[in-house]
Amino acid sequence: MLSDSREREIDSIIKVVREFLAREVAPLYRVIEHEGRMPRELFKKMAEQGILTPNISSSYGGPELDLLTATHIMREVGYHDPAMSLPVYIVVNNVWGKMIETYADNHLKEMVLPKVTSGESFLGIASTEPHGGSDVAGIRTRARRENGHYIVNGEKVYISGVQEAKSWGGGFFLLAKTRDERSYRAISAFYLPIDLEGISTGSFETMGRKGISTGSIKMDNVKLPAENLIGEEGSGFIYAMEGFMRARVLIGGAAIGSAFRILDEVMEYVKNRELFGWPLARYEGIQFRIAEIWSELEATWNLVVKAADVVDKYARGQESRSNAYKYSSAAKLLGVDKSFRAIADLTQMLGAVGYTTEFVAESALRGVFSYLSGAEGAPNIMRMIIARELLGKEYRATPT
Ligand SMILES: Cc1cc2nc3c(=O)[nH]c(=O)nc-3n(C[C@H](O)[C@H](O)[C@H](O)COP(=O)(O)OP(=O)(O)OC[C@H]3O[C@@H](n4cnc5c(N)ncnc54)[C@H](O)[C@@H]3O)c2cc1C
Repeated sequence: MLSDSREREIDSIIKVVREFLAREVAPLYRVIEHEGRMPRELFKKMAEQGILTPNISSSYGGPELDLLTATHIMREVGYHDPAMSLPVYIVVNNVWGKMIETYADNHLKEMVLPKVTSGESFLGIASTEPHGGSDVAGIRTRARRENGHYIVNGEKVYISGVQEAKSWGGGFFLLAKTRDERSYRAISAFYLPIDLEGISTGSFETMGRKGISTGSIKMDNVKLPAENLIGEEGSGFIYAMEGFMRARVLIGGAAIGSAFRILDEVMEYVKNRELFGWPLARYEGIQFRIAEIWSELEATWNLVVKAADVVDKYARGQESRSNAYKYSSAAKLLGVDKSFRAIADLTQMLGAVGYTTEFVAESALRGVFSYLSGAEGAPNIMRMIIARELLGKEYRATPT
């Protein structure tokens, strides 16, 4: 339970965020989701408001909020952009910026973070490779140290924000192997500016989240300065898992926000749609599912909030890593699954109009589904992590 003063503090932040989103995002919703264009000005305004990087410290221009507050913000952002493009901008810039703040040396922090918190440049995560994203320890991108540089070769796919980084400026939290063996200890993290020589990029046409691009990054003998190494060689996998922990909680919050938005809209619709002489809202077939959806979303939201609190405590050394893994994975697993199933059923209640772009429900369905496809870790991977922490590492299904 939150203390009264803590609750009031979060409420007052959320009030400002809600006003901002209603004013700035609502009029641009169709531009973002249907024209597939994120206005640069909006990105910058989100940065100015501190919404883009809520967890980054004030020394680097962020508002220095905790994950719990950021999770409440994400619920609002998901509510105002149920198609989930804006939540992606926040997750990647905020989380990977936070990991750079936590683990990189001062020079790299100074070079990257002020530009991210001000919205001057974009920061994303480049982990997934063509042969499979779930097996992070099995990545093949190789960074070899050579005369004050790393020479990087490899390919990353399904990466959010490649085109935005290219046109606005920016880079990626890159995972690459600095040793040949198959071990999580062979993986290091780097800051990869997208404009280095030897980088070529591509695009994927996706089902949803039209307001942020999904692309590929091919690295052919890219000469990366040694100072772009984040933290220690061989610790990249650990930094990435900590980042994913945070990202998964934030995504759980945004997905719940998206589903609550569709619930609100559909409740209005069924009150006004008359069939067989009465509004749809009077039929038990509709009422009971609405009651179930609200109960499931409310329960799941409480799990997401608990997960945010556990990860905050873990960051302060007051919770175990095992609990942080378990709760953050559960927040994503249920946050996304319950939201998607709720949105699918609510969209059905709209009948044919739900299948058209006149109503926001279809865009929410497509956007939230990205997190069942794999973004921020596939559902079975969440189940594997939770089971590993419950049963013990000796029952792990994978060899490393
Ligand atoms: C819209 C979108 C945006 C993305 N953005 C980024 C990004 O910015 N950066 C980035 O690095 N990646 C990004 N990804 C990629 C994402 O991280 C991967 O989709 C995810 O890690 C899964 O990898 P994969 O798609 O290669 O599926 P695979 O790893 O091939 O897995 C396929 C299926 O098999 C299941 N599976 C895997 N292993 C097991 C097992 N042991 N037991 C049972 N089932 C298993 C998975 O749950 C999944 O359903 C994005 C993906 C999407 C869809």
